[in-house]
Amino acid sequence: MIIVLRKNISRKEELEVLRAIKRLGYKPHIMRGVARTVVGAIGDERKNQSLEALSAMPQVESVTPVQKRHKLVSREAHPVNSSVRAGNVVIGGRKLIVMAGPCSVESEKQVLATATAVKAAGASILRGGAYKPRTSPYEFQGLGEKGLKILAKARKETGLPIITELLSERQATLVADYADILQIGTRNAQNFQLLIAAAKTGRPVLLKRGLSMRIEEWLLAGEYILAHDNPNLLFCERGVRTFDTYTRNTLDLAAIPILKQETHCPVVIDPSQGAGRADLVSGLCKGAVAMGADALLIEVHPNPSAAWSDAAQQLSIDGFARLMTDLQPFIAAAGRE
Ligand code: PEP
Ligand code: MN
Repeated sequence: MIIVLRKNISRKEELEVLRAIKRLGYKPHIMRGVARTVVGAIGDERKNQSLEALSAMPQVESVTPVQKRHKLVSREAHPVNSSVRAGNVVIGGRKLIVMAGPCSVESEKQVLATATAVKAAGASILRGGAYKPRTSPYEFQGLGEKGLKILAKARKETGLPIITELLSERQATLVADYADILQIGTRNAQNFQLLIAAAKTGRPVLLKRGLSMRIEEWLLAGEYILAHDNPNLLFCERGVRTFDTYTRNTLDLAAIPILKQETHCPVVIDPSQGAGRADLVSGLCKGAVAMGADALLIEVHPNPSAAWSDAAQQLSIDGFARLMTDLQPFIAAAGRE
């Protein structure tokens, strides 16, 4: 931490700050400039109480951290890209991974039809929500365990690993018994007890960005997974809430290169929640691939207009097959397979 002292303070007031720094377990290092005195406080912030309390002292002008607050997810800690394995699929390698499937699991017929079709078109992982975080309590809440069983059946028939959302700590073991990847949704991105429970299952965790979450907060939420001994973390940008009404959310593609600088964890883009519009999915996928995303998470439904959730943003099976063809030159141009 760097502590800047106010101008014209007395020697006694300066000593009070130095004593406070030592009391909190740090070693003060004084740097006297022409106009200001600056104190560097050296010590392990994880073991000691935070120095931020010093900003309450009248003789202190500012307290600024030098180290980043995210550690285990940071590139500094792990300079090479990490990759995450789900079944026989590796996310974060040379191959651009596409995860596709319906927003919600509605029936066995719907999931099996989608799974077979997305696999034929080139998807490697099947998505589908069995527990749905709906804004209104009167909307379809998901089939629950029955939905998990349908997903497991689709995996058995197609060989595709499955990703599904974990909504509650209580269901962590149950959902992990069926899923290859646990999705933590945008509404739960800072539900730290849920993150810990997800981490402890040992399954890979896909952490969506919260609706109004800063990247630093997102990295710190991801830190909870690694700090609980689960190295298998994927960050998923799915759009943030802004003032615009043309789209459901504003997909922040700039988050891709920022995450690539800040973290070694793979980056996933969800263009479906990202725009809330099926007609924008193709363009957003192309942009995401060009900007270095490792994987895409795309909603696909055999009959989007009849979908029980997120009808406007789901691609039809034909639309998904077209998208996969259209993406090929972008995948190649990005140096991926
Ligand atoms: C979803 O993937 O269907 C979903 C609910 O995602 P999010 O948490 O990003 O809204
Ligand atoms: Mn959805």
